[in-house]
Amino acid sequence: MKITNIRARVFEWKGKTVPPQAHFCSNAMDELYDRGDSMGTFRFHGWTVVEVETDEGIVGLGNVALAPRISKQIIDEYLAGLVIGQDPFDYEYIWQRMYRSTHAWGRKGVAMAAISAIDIAIWDIMGKVTNKPVFKLLGGRTKEKIPCYASKLYRTDLDEMQREAQSYLDQGFTMMKMRFGYGARDGVKGVTENIKSVDAVREVIGYENDLMLECYMGWNLDYARRILPKLEKFQPRWLEEPVIADDIDGYAELNNMTSIPISGGEHEFTSHGFKQLLDKKAVSYIQYDTNRVGGITAARKVNALAEVHGVPVVPHAGQMHNYHLTMSTLASPMSEYFPVHDVEVGNELFYYIFKGDPAPVNGFVDLDDDKPGLGLEINEDYLSDFNITE
Ligand SMILES: [Mg+2]
Repeated sequence: MKITNIRARVFEWKGKTVPPQAHFCSNAMDELYDRGDSMGTFRFHGWTVVEVETDEGIVGLGNVALAPRISKQIIDEYLAGLVIGQDPFDYEYIWQRMYRSTHAWGRKGVAMAAISAIDIAIWDIMGKVTNKPVFKLLGGRTKEKIPCYASKLYRTDLDEMQREAQSYLDQGFTMMKMRFGYGARDGVKGVTENIKSVDAVREVIGYENDLMLECYMGWNLDYARRILPKLEKFQPRWLEEPVIADDIDGYAELNNMTSIPISGGEHEFTSHGFKQLLDKKAVSYIQYDTNRVGGITAARKVNALAEVHGVPVVPHAGQMHNYHLTMSTLASPMSEYFPVHDVEVGNELFYYIFKGDPAPVNGFVDLDDDKPGLGLEINEDYLSDFNITE
């Protein structure tokens, strides 16, 4: 079997969008003097959809959520030529070919996201050819079903956040993640606002449900040092990405500082990147995203590293490429789940592009033992809401 074609299309949303408000979610741009519309960089309204075709007519589906126009160009100009003509079952060879050929300028960021998309599509092909769901090729079912946590709760009015938290409890979720709205530039008032929001959510969900806290790299080390002790009493399951992804020593210091486990990794790449995080005990939870880390081929290596270090893996985002790994990996206790709703920051855009993601029931998702591949297809219902570039 040979790969005969790779088609990368950019899907850019032009439909109705819910505008995020100020202090909706802290993020890495908050540190800059001219804040402007820092939420502008936090929106992901375009994706690259990658279809890898074989001489037997089987098509594998992968996707990239980072810098879609650039990832398309990397696929078209550099990666496609390295992959066309190869047998998809030589996935490790193909991965190394892409990784090593782009090593001078790739390794991390958009290039690795583009490699990830092709790799995910290749695993989809292998599942379809063998008539098995991808998780059955990765180790099979390690859990009856996947516990998942509801991940939204952006900073809005506290009453609204409380209503949203209650709605997740009503749907049967026992775990949820909220976002902070304030960072270092907001001073003591922002610290108070952040603490008030955690208090408000805890008031609704109590301490018999898990609460995760998300900073999205919107703090700096000094600010995190000051606020972490004040958050300890809320017993978060973890506190996510307090500082920028490159500050690995900062992660290690914070992870060692209080009883709060620090999590991260959605902006880290390949097993080499995660080895550094693990060696320094920088994170207590690993959160790679399969469509950034280097695809399924790289993610399973990270899983093996995490398992021997005793660090749980909870991939960033729901989505099939992550669910299949979580299902087949003992090191993964749960999945993230982005609720389906109107397009806002873009986390939810996946549901408008693809069909097939399982809907959670009482806080769990399950995968079909009989559905070959990843179980995804392109959602035809919303095609007219996108500008699509071939
Ligand atoms: Mg995150």
